[in-house]
Amino acid sequence: MDESPFWEKELETFPTEQLRALQLRRLRRVTELCERSPYYRQTFREANFESSQLKTLDDLRRIPFLTKEDLRASGPFNFLAVPQDEIVRVHSTSGTTGVATPIFHTGEDIEAWANLVARCMYMVGMRRSDVFQNTMGYGLFTGGLGFHYGAERVGAMTIPAGAGNSRRQIRLMQDFGTTCLHIIPSYALYLGTVFQEMGLNPAADTQLRLAFIGAEPHTERMRERIEELYGIKAYNSYGLTEMSGPGVAFECPEKQGMHLWEDSFVAEIVDPASGERVAEGEEGELVLTALHRRGMPLLRYRTRDLTAAIPGACACGRSHLRIARIKGRTDDMFVIKGVNVFPMQVEKVLLSILGVGSNYRIVLETVEMQDRMKLMVEVTGGLWKGDVQELSRLRDRLVEGLREEIMITPRVELVEPGSLPRSEGKAARVEDLRRNH
Ligand code: ADP
Ligand code: ZN
Repeated sequence: MDESPFWEKELETFPTEQLRALQLRRLRRVTELCERSPYYRQTFREANFESSQLKTLDDLRRIPFLTKEDLRASGPFNFLAVPQDEIVRVHSTSGTTGVATPIFHTGEDIEAWANLVARCMYMVGMRRSDVFQNTMGYGLFTGGLGFHYGAERVGAMTIPAGAGNSRRQIRLMQDFGTTCLHIIPSYALYLGTVFQEMGLNPAADTQLRLAFIGAEPHTERMRERIEELYGIKAYNSYGLTEMSGPGVAFECPEKQGMHLWEDSFVAEIVDPASGERVAEGEEGELVLTALHRRGMPLLRYRTRDLTAAIPGACACGRSHLRIARIKGRTDDMFVIKGVNVFPMQVEKVLLSILGVGSNYRIVLETVEMQDRMKLMVEVTGGLWKGDVQELSRLRDRLVEGLREEIMITPRVELVEPGSLPRSEGKAARVEDLRRNH
């Protein structure tokens, strides 16, 4: 049994037509359910839509998009599709881009969510015999409890370590022989420096073999760094509170994109400006409809996350849609001197140049009426104490690499290791101090 790479083989490998038929059945059920929530009763009435009119998956387009602003403006209780006493749990977004949004769950919702997370962990090889350490924040944030329930469902011994307290994290790994880690990528690199401070090597002095990394955008190079540092395999995990949390999309062992679980979600990729669907393979904003939620079903939610569908079949045998690594949020992008820049583009350049530490901060400021981009980058300890000329050469290479990638010339400041604010939660990469912004 443990030899199978699938958690739910049939569902994971459903032929596409069957998957579409399942989605349609579930979509009908969920839109019917929505008719019980005050928000959707009104929205459907205004859009002249009734769940009984849903004949094909394309009919979904008759339902208007739902934005974060709609959620906030209407208030969460208006989205309840069941009596409030059926709700057993509330979670809330981490509020990276503003006020936190609460999401309600029934017992069944929690079960379905735990199953999806278990499917992801099992897919990349976590088994009952593993020891799983969860370094994500418990509480309202979904990364903690979401993975916790998933891991227990797989049957791994779970260490609910929670966020922060780095030395303790390391001690726990050693005391219990942790083999699988759930960790935010920027924190994984930081934790590497704490290992060093303790005179330990994360690869040699732990039993680690797998990490689930996610909750924030990161590059392929960042993943490689984490894999090298810890001597493990690291897989990208994507989710958002509005769609329950982790377990929406997850990389399979092929590492050619993340499978988005289409038995539980309908995915659309749209042009962020026009809302029209983009052609297959083109980049756009991910829009998600949850098919498996009863308490607070949400339809056509604009995630603001940019990705693209990856065409073709995956060698792992799973038929569910693959999406590309998330490039960032539509609202992470900043415009400077008329050029659109994503923090991920900067990270890509930084990590490709040897000797540069991973932590960085982009500061946008106005100097003498001109907008300017300043990039502060930590270098490794050896370099910092070493030759001044070498540092200056490194800075030149960075400026050049960045100019090629983003087409503007930033001011680069190399700073001492450990001097930039560290993230034990999600990294805030950009600080915008410009006037008129
Ligand atoms: P908040 O929106 O306040 O950060 P969440 O904790 O729900 O609240 O975070 C979900 C968001 O985190 C996603 O919409 C996405 O922007 C980001 N995210 C989550 N996982 C990943 C990932 N693997 N890659 C890139 N971004 C991710
Ligand atoms: Zn696959």
